[in-house]
Amino acid sequence: MKHLRCSFFTCAEDNTPKPWEGAWGALLEILERTNRPRPRPNGVDPKKGLPAIAPATFMPMHRGKDEALFLAFLGLDYDNACEEVIPGEFHKSGTAKTRKVPIENPVSMGEVAEALWEAGVAGYLWTTWSNQEEWPRHRALVPLYLPVPASQWEQATEWALTSLGLADTRRGLDVRALRDVARMFFLPGHPDGHEAIRRQEIVGEPLKVPLGQLDRLKVPVVPRLPHIEREINRRRHDGFSWTANLPVELGTLRLSELIASLGVKVGQGQPYKGGTKWRTHCLWPGEHSHGLDDDSGFVIHEPGRWPTWTCSHACHAHLGLVDVLRAAGVLR
Ligand SMILES: [Zn+2]
Repeated sequence: MKHLRCSFFTCAEDNTPKPWEGAWGALLEILERTNRPRPRPNGVDPKKGLPAIAPATFMPMHRGKDEALFLAFLGLDYDNACEEVIPGEFHKSGTAKTRKVPIENPVSMGEVAEALWEAGVAGYLWTTWSNQEEWPRHRALVPLYLPVPASQWEQATEWALTSLGLADTRRGLDVRALRDVARMFFLPGHPDGHEAIRRQEIVGEPLKVPLGQLDRLKVPVVPRLPHIEREINRRRHDGFSWTANLPVELGTLRLSELIASLGVKVGQGQPYKGGTKWRTHCLWPGEHSHGLDDDSGFVIHEPGRWPTWTCSHACHAHLGLVDVLRAAGVLR
C-alpha cells in the first residue's frame, strides 16, 4: 500500500466528496484530532454536524452507491444496538414504533483491538459521539492493502470479518453500514470534548483482501429489521399458517377499501385474471430503505380466492393479508 484514496465530507448532509489521497500515517494524524460539530438548527442531532470520512472514491463527484468506484478501508461501527417494538405505541400507519436498545453482551473496543493485534492488521479505534459507560459505542477503521472495487465490496467485507477473527462481533456490529459502499463515518468528536474520547491505534499491516478468491464466498443476508426477523421466527416456531381459521369472512372482504380507510393511498382497480388488481402504497413505508413511500403494494382479488396484499420491497417479503388485518384492527 502506497497511498489510500478516500473521501471527506463536512457534515451528514454534505454529499459532495472531497477526495483525499495519502499514507495511512497521514490519515491517522487526521483521526487523532477531535472535531466539533457545525452548528445545527434546534432539534437536529448535533452529531450530524461532525465532519465525516468515507472509504470510497466517488465518480462522478457525488456520494451515492452508483458513484462509488473502490474502497480503501473497512468501517466497523459497533453501536451494540438492536431494535425492539415499543409496547402499545404505533405510527399512524398502524405499525408498531420501535426503538434501539443495547444488546445484552456488547462488543468492547478491547475485543476488536485484540482481534486486530492477533491478525497483525493495522487499525484505528475510537469511542463515538453517543458512547456511554453502560452502552459502549465505538468505531474502527482498518486500511486495505489494495483498494477493493465496489462490485466486490460485500464479499470483501464478509471475508474480512472472518479472517480478522471478528465474526463473533457481528452481534454488536452495524453490518449494513460496513457493507454500504457509499457510507460515511463521523470523525472523532464527543459532546464533552477531547478527554471523553478513548482512542487506540493498532500497529500492523494493511489488510490484504484476496480479490481473486471472493467470487465463491457466500454473503449472508442482513435482516432488514431485527423485530421483523423475530416475527418471522416466532411464526415459524408457532407453526403459523396462512390457512388458519380467521374470524373474518375473507370471501367478501374488500381489502383495497380497508387499506384506503387506513389513510394509505390506493390506485384505480385494473382487470386482473378475471378479478381486480390495485396498486397501493405500503402500510409501513418507514421500514423501507430511506423510508421510501412509493406504490410498492398490490392488492389482488381473484374469483374464488382470498384477497392478497403484498409489498414489493424486499424487507416486506414476509408481510401479507394477516398483517394488514392486524394493522386495521380487524385481527388481534
Ligand atoms: Zn413495504
